[in-house]
Amino acid sequence: MTQRPFIATPVLAALVLIALAFPFALPNTAQAADREITKITGDLYRFKNKFHFSVFLVTPEGVIATDPINKDAAAWLKAEIAKRFGKEIRYVIYSHDHRDHIAGGEVFAETATVVAHQNAKAAIVGEKRPTAVPTVTFSDRMTVELGGKRVELTYVGPSHSNNMIVMNFPEERVLFLVDLVSPGRVPYKNLSDSYFPGWIDALKKVEAIDFDILAPGHGPMAKKSEITSQRQYLEELYAAVLSGIQAGKTLDELKASVTMVKYKSWGMYKDWRPLNIEGVYSRIQAHRRGN
Ligand SMILES: [Zn+2]
Repeated sequence: MTQRPFIATPVLAALVLIALAFPFALPNTAQAADREITKITGDLYRFKNKFHFSVFLVTPEGVIATDPINKDAAAWLKAEIAKRFGKEIRYVIYSHDHRDHIAGGEVFAETATVVAHQNAKAAIVGEKRPTAVPTVTFSDRMTVELGGKRVELTYVGPSHSNNMIVMNFPEERVLFLVDLVSPGRVPYKNLSDSYFPGWIDALKKVEAIDFDILAPGHGPMAKKSEITSQRQYLEELYAAVLSGIQAGKTLDELKASVTMVKYKSWGMYKDWRPLNIEGVYSRIQAHRRGN
């Protein structure tokens, strides 16, 4: 027998007291915020699953849901909606085909019609995405109506993927938009599965839609003006990389000279700006026929 237990006991007691006094500081309770539902306005809600977000609209005839995110997230949301609102999900609308946003759609498809852009269906089937295959598709625009409420879907063209749609809730004046813009942050890494200058044109289409509040798939809620700031960033980036390539600069030279310094306060500027340049550079090179 050592003296150790006699020393440890008061330490343990102190730890227990700390735990009792600050239960919210315990590591296992901190995880609760990984998943949550917050009201945006009226009957429109935002669903968070770690770093991913979607929205859903509650109507007298059931719920219009959007990106399921993943199977566990969708099961959680479905149970919460049943518990809080006593409603079934009647529609699920996918923003685009990428797995990290639309996996788990089969959880909603038990009661819901699955809607997406026609190119999304092709990618979901072709890439064997782990989700329900859309049963209703469209090419340019579509309105989904349920219980006297509606959401307007607009295809924005090849931009981030070739099947991205944005979802406008006109009564709520809120737009749900995924991956085209993350408020206050530069675009994600090397812009994989992107189209240029289509992405810039897509943001111009979004700017032409009448809404006030942006509910993004990543990051905080924002004002509509965030779309314009991000479009300007991409325009400046694209123009600088294109003229650099035409002047014979290498990728490394462009990473050094295209500083985008005006945007240095944006999140991930330091790490992702060079990757953004790499992304635009490779898209331009793929479509360019030099002199
Ligand atoms: Zn995506």
